Amino acid sequence: MIKLYNSKIRKKELFEPLEEKVRLYTCGPTVYDYAHIGNLKTYIFEDLLKRTLLYNGYEVKHVMNITDVGHLVSDDDSGEDKVEKKAREEGKTAWEIAEYYTKEFKKDIKKLNIKNPDIFVKATDTIDEQINLIKILEDKGFTYQIEDGVYFDTSKLESYGEMANLDEIEAGKRVSVKGKKNPTDFALWKFSDPKEKRQMEWESPWGVGFPGWHTECVVMAEKYLSIPFDIHCGGIDHIEIHHPNEIAQSEAAFGKNPANFWMHGEFLTVEGEKMSKSKDNFYTLKDITETHSPLAYRYLVLNSHYRSKMNFSEKAMQGAENSLRKMRERVQNLSYDKKGRIDEDYKKKFLSVLNDDLNSPRALEVVWTLIKDNSIDPEDKKETILDFDRVLGLELNKEQNIPKEIEYLAEKRKKFRENGQYEKADEMRKKINESGYKIEDVKDGYKLKKI
Ligand code: AMP
Ligand code: ZN
Repeated sequence: MIKLYNSKIRKKELFEPLEEKVRLYTCGPTVYDYAHIGNLKTYIFEDLLKRTLLYNGYEVKHVMNITDVGHLVSDDDSGEDKVEKKAREEGKTAWEIAEYYTKEFKKDIKKLNIKNPDIFVKATDTIDEQINLIKILEDKGFTYQIEDGVYFDTSKLESYGEMANLDEIEAGKRVSVKGKKNPTDFALWKFSDPKEKRQMEWESPWGVGFPGWHTECVVMAEKYLSIPFDIHCGGIDHIEIHHPNEIAQSEAAFGKNPANFWMHGEFLTVEGEKMSKSKDNFYTLKDITETHSPLAYRYLVLNSHYRSKMNFSEKAMQGAENSLRKMRERVQNLSYDKKGRIDEDYKKKFLSVLNDDLNSPRALEVVWTLIKDNSIDPEDKKETILDFDRVLGLELNKEQNIPKEIEYLAEKRKKFRENGQYEKADEMRKKINESGYKIEDVKDGYKLKKI
C-alpha cells in the first residue's frame, strides 16, 4: 500500500496504478545551462519515487522531456527564449547549446545514481504534434490570435487553475504581453520576431514561430504514455503556472486531466532563499563535487522529506558526507562468511515509511537502527541493507575511498609545495591529520591513508 501526496486534492491518497504498468511523466530540464543542485534535488525526489514503485514490485514506464525550445526568460510569455539567448551570448548555435547542456545533464544525473527515464524526448522532436494539439484547441474554440502569437483563453475553461491556488498567484506575474485577454492566458505558439532572426523556428498554420513551453509536456505525455496516465511530477514552482497550463490544454483538448496524481518537490534554498539562476545564488554539481562526492549530495537530499524546503550549506553537505562515509564503513565491516537473509521485520519498517509519501529521512533512520541492532546477524544485516540500497541508491557496498575533500586538501598541499609555500602546505597536512588521514610523500607524489 503506497500513499502519496496528491497536489490535485492537496492530501495524501492511496496510490493505485490505472493499468498494470505505472506510467510516470517528469518535467525535464531546460537545456540552456548546467542544472543547479536545486533542480537536481527535484530529480532525486522523482528518482526516489520511481525506485519506490519498482521496489514495491511495479513496472514503471517513465518519460522525461528535454526543453530545448520555447522556455522564455520570463513566466509572462515575454522575453527571449533561454536557449537562443545563451546561443547568442556564447556565439554558438541554439542546437549546439541544447546538445551540450543535455549531455551535461545526463552526466549529472548519472553521477547522482538517478535512473534514466525509459524515454527522453526533445521538444524540437515533437513540433508537428504540438501544432496538431494547438489545432485541436483552436477547433474547440479555446484559442485567439494576437500580434505576437496564438494564446489559450483561460476564461473559456471553468476548471482553469484548480490545482494552483489562484489567489496566491502574484497578479502582474503573467500579464505583460500586450493584447492578452486574461492575465492567466498563455502562449501556445509564438511568432518569430521579424526584427530578430531566430535559429529555431517552424512553419505553422498561424505563421512562422515556435511553440510555447507548456504545450510540449502535454503532447509528449499523450504521445508516449497516453492520457490519463498515473503520475506527473515537477518542482513546486510548477503548481502555479506550468502544470495548470498543461492541465488546461489536456482538459480542453481531450476532456481529461492528464494525470491521476500530481506530485511536487519543494525548493532547495540558500540562506532561506530559493536557489535560482536569476538570483545568482546557485551551485552546480561540479561546484560542490570539487570537495564532496556526488552521492553525499544524494544522501543530503534523501535526509529531508521531498515536500520540505531544504537549506543548502557547506556544513550540511559536510555532515551528509560524514554520515554516508560512516554508513558505508559500517556496512562494509559486516562480516560475510555466508550469504545472509533479508530481515522481514526491518523490511516491513523500511517499506512502511517509504510508502508513507516517500519518507526518506525515516528510511535512513531505519538503516541506522538496523546497523546498530546487535540482535541481527551481520550477514542478514548486510543483505537487508543492500536490499534497501535498491531504493536509496547510495552504493552502500562501495569500497570506502579516500573522501573527496581529503584528496582536495592533498592536492592543495601539493600545489603549495610546488610554489614553495611550505607553511600553507603544512596547514593542509594538519587539516588532513585532523580529519583522520595521513599523507606520506612518495617518489612521484603522495599517498593518503586512514589513521
Ligand atoms: P528548469 O530546468 O528551470 O525547467 O527546472 C527543472 C526542474 O527544477 C523543475 O522541475 C523546477 O521546478 C525545479 N526547480 C527549479 N528551482 C528549484 C529549486 N531551487 N529547488 C528545487 N527544484 C527546483
Ligand atoms: Zn513540463
